Amino acid sequence: MAWFKRESKGIITTTEEKKEAPDGIWNKCPNCKKPLHYSEQVENQYVCHYCDYHLRIGSKEYFSVLFDNNEFTELFPNLTSGDPLNFVDTKKYTARLEESMEKTGLKDAIRAAHGKIDGQDLVVACMDFNFIGGSMGSVVGEKIARSIDYSIKNKIPFLMISKSGGARMMEAAFSLMQMAKTSAKLALLSLAKIPYISLLTDPTTGGVTASYAMLGDINIAEPGALIGFAGPRVIKETIKKDLPKGFQTAEFVQEHGFLDFIVDRREMKAKLAMFLKMMAN
Ligand SMILES: [Zn+2]
Repeated sequence: MAWFKRESKGIITTTEEKKEAPDGIWNKCPNCKKPLHYSEQVENQYVCHYCDYHLRIGSKEYFSVLFDNNEFTELFPNLTSGDPLNFVDTKKYTARLEESMEKTGLKDAIRAAHGKIDGQDLVVACMDFNFIGGSMGSVVGEKIARSIDYSIKNKIPFLMISKSGGARMMEAAFSLMQMAKTSAKLALLSLAKIPYISLLTDPTTGGVTASYAMLGDINIAEPGALIGFAGPRVIKETIKKDLPKGFQTAEFVQEHGFLDFIVDRREMKAKLAMFLKMMAN
């Protein structure tokens, strides 16, 4: 027997009258497809509490997860990209930038900030995938370079959170130069004996993997993150072999010696604070 019996037949609600949950309040977990309420997501640091899938989040969420009381000072917030090549694909690069700024409320695919985690100072640069696929253009490289300068000047450890599809093709060689620039700055950071922790999140690929993401004194990843250089299809066609199971997952990359730890996001802050304490002594 049903709990509720529909007694009147033919009740029709027009679409306009239907009450919908506001956008973004409920999300489906991309892995297990179970509904996740926004407040549950916040409470669980944006990890699905059914299957432990780590939802893709941006700098706003990472800052709130890591910084004490979500307090921080944003660094170099007003850097925006030029268009040195007058690049046009399906649309003009300048139009694409404007559109992305409007859509995301961000200035480019990265934000940097100085705050405290468990009372210890930390400079964090965090990429935003929503902004042109988290692509590494001049602004991304420049913000990382300036953040490292800031770290050196103030003797504060540096954390880089990578999430990227790789180089930004609209900036071509200018984008590729960021690999050398950021790597050189990290060498200066190392000379100054200031710790650098690299956190690789889903996905970290292309020129980002091939430069700053893999240069940490400690390289950490989130579980299940896609980490690689070229995509699996390209590799498969090049080596003419089937790829092993789990290829390019954080777990696979760690097994092959390129990562030190895989850390659940819910334990990330405590782990980072512990590393910072260890390295400060
Ligand atoms: Zn799930």
